[in-house]
Amino acid sequence: MNWLKKFMYGRYGVDQLSNGLILVSILLLILNLFLKLPALRYLTTLLIFISYYRMFSKNINKRYQENMKFLNWWNPIKAKLNKNVYKLKSLKTHKFFKCPGCNRDIRVPRGKGRLIIRCPKCNESFEGRS
Ligand SMILES: [Zn+2]
Repeated sequence: MNWLKKFMYGRYGVDQLSNGLILVSILLLILNLFLKLPALRYLTTLLIFISYYRMFSKNINKRYQENMKFLNWWNPIKAKLNKNVYKLKSLKTHKFFKCPGCNRDIRVPRGKGRLIIRCPKCNESFEGRS
């Protein structure tokens, strides 16, 4: 394993962007099992090539900047996805309302009948059925 350590010394290594590229390539590979498009195969190969190029790159600063750009784009999407997963998971036990004042999501336990719901952010009150 020492040769690998030596080889990777001063090289950038794996980051979220490389992981993302590999994940997308795997998804495209699976998709292409059905579509069998040569263009998609080239694209997948290109993505894998780019992710390996980035891992072995010695231009650490540039790779870091690329990853930061990627995270600026990806993190809000990821947060939204996580929020939706959280909502879906608690849909059986809770009901969600949108505050008419500030548009914030408010979670209320189900089965409590008619309620006056007060928004914890803007203090607006409204009626809802849970
Ligand atoms: Zn509000």
